[in-house]
Amino acid sequence: MAFVTTCERCGAGIKNVFTYNGKNYGSECIHIVTGKPVSYWELKNGEIDIEATSSREQKKADKVAEKKANDDKLKNEFTLKCEKYTSENSWLIELLLAQENDFYNSLADTIKSREIKSLSGGQLDALLKLYCKGTRYDSKKYWKKVEEFCNKAGVDEW
Ligand SMILES: [Zn+2]
Repeated sequence: MAFVTTCERCGAGIKNVFTYNGKNYGSECIHIVTGKPVSYWELKNGEIDIEATSSREQKKADKVAEKKANDDKLKNEFTLKCEKYTSENSWLIELLLAQENDFYNSLADTIKSREIKSLSGGQLDALLKLYCKGTRYDSKKYWKKVEEFCNKAGVDEW
């Protein structure tokens, strides 16, 4: 096999040409110039634009890896949050689900992944009303239930 061209670095005739930043190198010099051995690069027909190929492939791989890591992180965070609040709010979730009512069902879903105190005033009103159901408004029992609700939910006023 005849030499195709000469190496940009050492001037020797080369058969396997590596094009890097638009310049041609032999297999030894491409290692010296890029710091990476020939085996690192994918050699196609003895010639490849190493810089372009490697950076493009690397960027693509980095992006995929970054997206996956980010997705995993978000998924983990959400799973942990759901586990935490589903267990923390179970006392209220059970009460809501027992009502078999769409509105309460959706509230139950909401507090599976959120703090009760993060709900809107209207939502808290509805929850308190449900929690105090069966007690007469302004009675001792009613206020006891209100206090209980506020303690369990971690809310004061809204
Ligand atoms: Zn060379």
